[in-house]
Amino acid sequence: PEIPLPEMVFRRVDEHPDKPALIEGLTGHTLTYAQLREQARAFAAGLAARGFRKGDLLALYSPNLPEYAVVFYGVAMAGGITTTVNPLYTVDELAHQLEDAGARFLVTFPLFLENARAAAERAGVEEVIVIGEADGATPLAELLQHGTEPPAVDINPREDLVVLPYSSGTTGRPKGVMLTHYNIVANIAQTLAVEQFEDDEVLIGILPFYHIYGMTVIMSMALHAGATVVTMPRFDLEQFLELLQRYRITTAFLVPPIILALAKHPLVDRYDLSSLRYVNSGAAPLPEPVARQCAERLNVTVRQGYGMTETSPVTHFTPRGFPIKLSSVGVAVPNTEFRIVDVATHEDVPEGETGELWIRGPQVMKGYWKNLQATRDTLDEEGWLHTGDVARVDQDGYLYIVDRVKELIKYKGYQVAPAELEEILQGHPAVADVAVVPSPDEEAGEVPKAYVVLKPGMQATAEELMAYVAERVAPYKKIRRVEFVDQIPKTLSGKILRRELVKREREIAG
Ligand code: ATP
Ligand code: MG
Repeated sequence: PEIPLPEMVFRRVDEHPDKPALIEGLTGHTLTYAQLREQARAFAAGLAARGFRKGDLLALYSPNLPEYAVVFYGVAMAGGITTTVNPLYTVDELAHQLEDAGARFLVTFPLFLENARAAAERAGVEEVIVIGEADGATPLAELLQHGTEPPAVDINPREDLVVLPYSSGTTGRPKGVMLTHYNIVANIAQTLAVEQFEDDEVLIGILPFYHIYGMTVIMSMALHAGATVVTMPRFDLEQFLELLQRYRITTAFLVPPIILALAKHPLVDRYDLSSLRYVNSGAAPLPEPVARQCAERLNVTVRQGYGMTETSPVTHFTPRGFPIKLSSVGVAVPNTEFRIVDVATHEDVPEGETGELWIRGPQVMKGYWKNLQATRDTLDEEGWLHTGDVARVDQDGYLYIVDRVKELIKYKGYQVAPAELEEILQGHPAVADVAVVPSPDEEAGEVPKAYVVLKPGMQATAEELMAYVAERVAPYKKIRRVEFVDQIPKTLSGKILRRELVKREREIAG
């Protein structure tokens, strides 16, 4: 994998130049493989004409659109680095990332232009470019008029960064993650080795491309493999189902909140989803009852994978055709070593026991951007990345993620994993969604509290739900408080925003 990312992604374009690479689901606007490559090359030439040089940064603040890929690979062809931005960011958050990354250019979408311009001005960005047209920004098309010969740049795949995504910010402020061409190229090869696409594969591009999961696993991997990706700018259940049906989607890389809807929402029965063969889940724990209900209802194979921004992202996945263990995230992808260690002693734990997951492989990041301390705390001298996740492995090599070290609830002297309790409650017939968080308690320190969304028209009392859990767990893990809510706060990358609920708990406790 010692090649630049665009070379990897466009390797087989000449075998299928006229095949749709990306289709904007709602409008049908299509870029074929040949068009995508040509426009990316033109964008690289346009950037070079503006003085954009090797190692320069461009920020991409846009929902999923076919042009997302034009910009992303165009920057890479020009030897630059794309820092991808969460489209939900406020002006402050955007300005922070632009400054932290040191972006020279910003590419955005008309709807976001106001925020983009305000943040760009604050961060000293030279030019704001817009996909489409809008007053006060350069249209993307203007940069595509400098021929289609990208500048000659000498890329060292192992050293040079291609993308600077920011971690999801689940546990704190998002951190810039330095990923090289080699990291992503390796991860595409590693993941595709176990995923083995068919020739007719059509993917749904619903997970945001700004996040490493959508970026590598959907966009780059699918394009390298010659699949077609149908993009959606934001999640809407009805539109999502309609597009799955209309485009005969075969494989869906998703996150647990969407799989939850597929498993439980009444709307799903109105659509013909018979083309769908694989539903893959990552980014957050997928409760087993949800996985099972989705698999049975849609007659599909549901598998989990595991990864993080720091690992490009994939480290574990269940290969197509392998026996499925629904609550496992699968086995290590090729060329990936992992250890499960005691957090205090850093010794390997005995087989089957839980400890912190460490990863080593070609997909492991170079480090955090301008943050030597965080890099030293996470990446050790032997190249092991300390994930901060608690995990165990079974005798067949299947990995189980228990929870994040930081999110374990400390009840008296015990540690309780919220994900385990959420999984149990997801199996209760009246529960539509749930999040378990630590609630401050004078006597115990913290107690597990469940925020519960009930299914429409269903009833359950707090006592009933607490008893349901108590029957299934050791006494120290019991849920001790329940609150009913309309919705669980989640990030665009599919994670429960436990931080918000924890903050609320602290406020209630005073
Ligand atoms: P931050 O690092 O900024 O706090 P984050 O860790 O949520 O945010 P990401 O890199 O998007 O940012 O997510 C990686 C994390 O997601 C992993 O460390 C793990 O906790 C969680 N995760 C990923 N896949 C799974 C999975 N299949 N099951 C459980 N957790 C998962
Ligand atoms: Mg993290």
